[in-house]
Amino acid sequence: MRVRVDEIPESGRTLRFHWDEERLRQFVPPGDPFQPKLVRPVNVVLYIVRNPDHIRVTGKIAGSLEVACHRCLQPFPFALEEEVDVYLIEESRAPEDEEKELEDEEIAYEFFDGEAIDIDQLVAEQIFLALPVKVLCSEDCKGICPRCGVNLNEEACRCGDDAKDSPFAKLHSLKGDLPKTGDR
Ligand SMILES: [Zn+2]
Ligand SMILES: [Zn+2]
Repeated sequence: MRVRVDEIPESGRTLRFHWDEERLRQFVPPGDPFQPKLVRPVNVVLYIVRNPDHIRVTGKIAGSLEVACHRCLQPFPFALEEEVDVYLIEESRAPEDEEKELEDEEIAYEFFDGEAIDIDQLVAEQIFLALPVKVLCSEDCKGICPRCGVNLNEEACRCGDDAKDSPFAKLHSLKGDLPKTGDR
């Protein structure tokens, strides 16, 4: 969806729409193994205001995605709640020294052609930015056993017990059996 700047009324323009899984997947770069799964559709509410030197887009993107726990690899729902606040500046008006002029990191600046705003692109960017690189199903997720692959949140494995039978464990107990010098 593209919104033409000259079609934005003085009072601003509100957009409300939903994105389903298929829509979201269109924005995953080709070859990227990440295929987002939605628990429920993404709800988008945007408010577009035209200012003399920029367009400001505020609003909210909310949804629920199925993601895999970084530690135990189990899928779980992740609540996506992203506040949107983007300043769109016409490319030709971009300050020459970008670094200097746009150093306020609190504000997200983006450039556009000055004629129309690519709303889909903006929404996709906001969603992918909001996704954490590493998520845990719970703070104290026990993960999977590196030896037997059992999900330690669901069952206890016996790898820990085996460790006692290892040659090192025997050595350790032998050491304990050695008479101490003071015992003689
Ligand atoms: Zn986990
Ligand atoms: Zn194990």
